[in-house]
Amino acid sequence: MKNKFNIVIWEGCAPIVTEAIQQFEQRWQPYSVSSRRYPIVRLIEEVIDPAVASYMDTLPSSYAGHVPGAGTGLGFSAIIRIVGLEAMVRMQRQLLRQFIKTVKQETSTDERFIATLESLMGLVWDCACKRPKRSSSTTGVNLNTQRKHDFCELCGNQAEFAAFMTTVSDQRINDVELEDHKKLGLSNQYCTEHRPKLANGDWNPSYRQAKRAQSQFNTELARLIHQCANRSKPHAMSGDKLVDSYFFQLMLRLTLQPADKAELRNLARRMVDSKLSDTKKKMLVLKQSGFNQTEIGLQLLNSRQQPMTRQAVSKALAAVRKDFLL
Ligand SMILES: [Zn+2]
Repeated sequence: MKNKFNIVIWEGCAPIVTEAIQQFEQRWQPYSVSSRRYPIVRLIEEVIDPAVASYMDTLPSSYAGHVPGAGTGLGFSAIIRIVGLEAMVRMQRQLLRQFIKTVKQETSTDERFIATLESLMGLVWDCACKRPKRSSSTTGVNLNTQRKHDFCELCGNQAEFAAFMTTVSDQRINDVELEDHKKLGLSNQYCTEHRPKLANGDWNPSYRQAKRAQSQFNTELARLIHQCANRSKPHAMSGDKLVDSYFFQLMLRLTLQPADKAELRNLARRMVDSKLSDTKKKMLVLKQSGFNQTEIGLQLLNSRQQPMTRQAVSKALAAVRKDFLL
C-alpha cells in the first residue's frame, strides 16, 4: 500500500535541503526504524547529512549551535543514532525555540533557517511515525480494508468499523466472528465513544454533545492545521489577532506535525470539550503578555458587550485545562 502522507516541506526551506527531502521521499518506501535491511537512519545519512552540511556551510558558524550535532562535526544521522528519532525532534525543537527567542531577526537568512529546520524536524518526525511495510497477509476477509484508517468524524479515533478492520488484519479473526461483528452494526462514521446510539438503543450523550459543537470542532481543527503547517508566525487564520497569537504560542511548545492527523483531531476535540472559547484564548494571550486580570477584563467584552469584571476573568482563567495554558 502506498504511504498516505508526504513529508511537509516548508515554504522558504533552503533549496538544497528541499531537494534532499524530495529525494529522500522517493526512496524511503522500504525503509523503517525496525528494518535491518533498510534502516531509515542509513537513508538519512546518505541523503540528508550531505545536504545539511552544505547548507550549514553557507551560514555564519554561530548558527551551528542551533542544529543538533552541527557544532561538533557530527552528522544529523549520527545524533539520531545516539538519541533516537523522537528525542531528536524534541532537542531540535528546543534549540529552534531558543533561536527564535534570543537570536532571530527579521532577515531572510533567519526565515530560511527556521523553515529549513522545521522541514527537517518534520522529516525526522515522519521517520519516527513510519511503520514497516507489511507483507500483505491473507486474512480471509472480503471487506473493504481500504477504509481502515478512517477517522471518527468527531475526534482522532478510528471509526468503529475501521478499528475493527485493524483488529481483523492484526489477529486474523475467523469468518464466524466476523459475521457476529457485522451484526453489531459498526459505525463507519464514528468511534465507539461517539457512536450515536448506545448498545441499549438509547441516544449516546457524548455523541449529542459533540454533534452540537461539530462546527466548532471543525473550526478549531482547521486553525490547528494551518498553524501547524506554518509555525514560524501566527497563521491560524481565525480573523482575530489575539486568537491567532494563541494558536501560534500553543503550537510552539508542541511537536505536532501536519501528518499527526489523529493527535491534531484529538487536540481539537479536547479544546471543544473543555470549552476553551475564543474569549479564554484571548485572556491567556493577554495574561502571557503581562496584563493583570483587571486590565484583561477592560480589553474584552462579555456577552452583553460590556467590559468583563476582574472576577469574571479570574473565574474563566481558573477553568482552563492545564495543557491549554501558555
Ligand atoms: Zn470519536
